[in-house]
Amino acid sequence: MADLTLNKITKVFQDGDDEIVAVDDLDLDIEDGEFVVLVGPSGCGKSTTLRMVAGLETPTDGEISIGGDPIQDKRPQERDIAMVFQSYALYPHMTVRENMSFGLEESTEMSGDEIGETVEKAAGTLDITQLLDRKPSALSGGQQQRVALGRAIVRSPAVFLMDEPLSNLDAKLRAEMRTELQQLQEDLDVTTIYVTHDQTEAMTMGDRIAILDGGELQQLGTPMECYHEPANVFVAGFLGEPSMNFFQLERDGETLTSEAFDYRLSPEAATAVDGHAEITLGVRPESVEIADEYDETDADLVPATVDVVEPHGDENAVHLRLGDADTRLTVMVDGMRYLASGQEVGVHFPEEAIHLFDSATGDALH
Ligand code: ATP
Repeated sequence: MADLTLNKITKVFQDGDDEIVAVDDLDLDIEDGEFVVLVGPSGCGKSTTLRMVAGLETPTDGEISIGGDPIQDKRPQERDIAMVFQSYALYPHMTVRENMSFGLEESTEMSGDEIGETVEKAAGTLDITQLLDRKPSALSGGQQQRVALGRAIVRSPAVFLMDEPLSNLDAKLRAEMRTELQQLQEDLDVTTIYVTHDQTEAMTMGDRIAILDGGELQQLGTPMECYHEPANVFVAGFLGEPSMNFFQLERDGETLTSEAFDYRLSPEAATAVDGHAEITLGVRPESVEIADEYDETDADLVPATVDVVEPHGDENAVHLRLGDADTRLTVMVDGMRYLASGQEVGVHFPEEAIHLFDSATGDALH
């Protein structure tokens, strides 16, 4: 079993007199064969976490184990892991075949023939057999990335570590490689940690995603759990494009009030926010409904004015202002729907699409 466990991992860097807490008390349990994506903004501690698992950094505190065995005291090459970097890190003077076999010659007892067979097999899996005798300089970015993957695969490690491996590829190739990599990981069934700052990559690739901010784990769950039931305002705003709309409101009994609009809470929502005075209401752009006209007799509608309509192909992003206040809202509507700049409309926030957070802590309440 190659499950990977990070138990209360902390990493503090010393920068002169300053201490930088790059990773703060991180717990992660990754199951055998699972694909977990570490995602978060620049500087949130993703790479440091990966580098500690790889043995390239030493944790200040905590324990890392693979299959129940602590690995901290092992050197990187003894850890039964293979790492794939953003830069590919191929040796320019070696052919693809040599790049792929090099690590095996250094670290295994395999015979030359066995190494040759292993490299051929991995090259077949990655569809790069025809490139085996070329040098990296004669390969496209996507092909170099495959070679870097091939070099990891031939070692049949217990754990793959991938640090933004697709970020040097153009958008189209990145999307293709995402699917391929995911398929490959599923076929090989190797426990994988994949680091990215790209939330789309995280949402589409991970069995589960671990969202980090400021070195702290914000949420660990399936992409759908994190998207539909975000643990806090950070996760809610980080996942989804365009981002969730947020409004600051004050609770007055069973109503939330703000300058722009009031929102009547359902009995369950009222119970959930009980004891919290300042509430952040969140609603995703695709969940808001727009009525072509504002009808003041309809208590569900909030008056709004269309600012700008941004075509995204089969959908349009509609940017609106609410009421008289300078409160902005983005709504995704069908690409065929016609809404004009300056048009007065009514917007509706469906009860089931509303997220409520404590404004002080950012924690989800409902
Ligand atoms: P990015 O997406 O930009 O690569 P990241 O999420 O991978 O960011 P890390 O590289 O893990 O973030 O860095 C986390 C924090 O630790 C940052 O504040 C960074 O400046 C700091 N840090 C990383 N390595 C060192 C180091 N060797 N010395 C001092 N501080 C460091």
